[in-house]
Amino acid sequence: MERRERTCRCGYTRSHEMVVEEPEYTLWGWILLSMFGVTPKPDHIVYRCQICRQSLGSTRNPAVLARRTVQPAPPGTKS
Ligand SMILES: [Zn+2]
Repeated sequence: MERRERTCRCGYTRSHEMVVEEPEYTLWGWILLSMFGVTPKPDHIVYRCQICRQSLGSTRNPAVLARRTVQPAPPGTKS
């Protein structure tokens, strides 16, 4: 069984710098984003080449999702 990493048509893998993690939101996520300006937790992450826009797969890994979510400052925090 072949275990080569998936590449886009440019030959880039997920780890290449031109392949970025693009958060994809649910419809509700988009509503939050556009109406309230808050960054919702992405539904999933798509690895996409910035050159050819080809997707190299997606992930729902909670750790990856959390990394893409802007955490609001906890209440009561003073700077
Ligand atoms: Zn590409």
